[in-house]
Amino acid sequence: LFLTFEGGDGSGKSTQSALLTEWLSQQGRTVVHAREPGGTELGLELREIILHRRGYIAPRAEALIYAADRAHNVATVVRPALERGDIVIQDRYLDSSVAYQGAGRVLEPAEVRDVSLWATEHLLPDLTILLDLDIETGRARLDDARTRYDRLEAEAAEFHHRVREAYLALAAAEQGRFLVLDATEPVETLAERIRARVSDLLA
Ligand code: C5P
Repeated sequence: LFLTFEGGDGSGKSTQSALLTEWLSQQGRTVVHAREPGGTELGLELREIILHRRGYIAPRAEALIYAADRAHNVATVVRPALERGDIVIQDRYLDSSVAYQGAGRVLEPAEVRDVSLWATEHLLPDLTILLDLDIETGRARLDDARTRYDRLEAEAAEFHHRVREAYLALAAAEQGRFLVLDATEPVETLAERIRARVSDLLA
């Protein structure tokens, strides 16, 4: 079972994915909690380039670096875990690229998705939990946590708007794969909704 968490910055992906990992582990399931960008050693080097390198990176180059990170993570972490029968829970996956590089950077979303599908040999999640949040709340949460990235700090509100709209469009187009939640709900309420959906999948 391959479960991914998506959503804008500050939407609570890491909190919810950690809670879900803990809950499934308590039930005796073997869970691999992965993330991107930067879920492998190579991925960490790529993450450093994408998030902390000063200066311009051409949008298509950026999209390919994310795709390289994803390809390596799928080949060396995700697929081996799924083949062992483990549950993989991952913060961000190809929908992040469609939303951020496709819509955010105004590349063609369908092409960005195709690049990802090639990179992952067409591995799609069984369930994608989208934590939907307005940009202002997300930004305020990040300011509190001081989780900022040199290169992305100055991203305009317009960029994050496009990202949010793209996520919602993806969820609307693939309703069976997505669970869309209002990320302003309390942490425990969200966790409960996620557990209910995952329980159904495991039943
Ligand atoms: O989720 P995490 O905080 O690790 O992501 C790091 C940053 O990379 C975020 O600010 C996010 O906006 C950005 N990102 C991106 N395109 C992706 C994945 C993440 O721009 N495909």
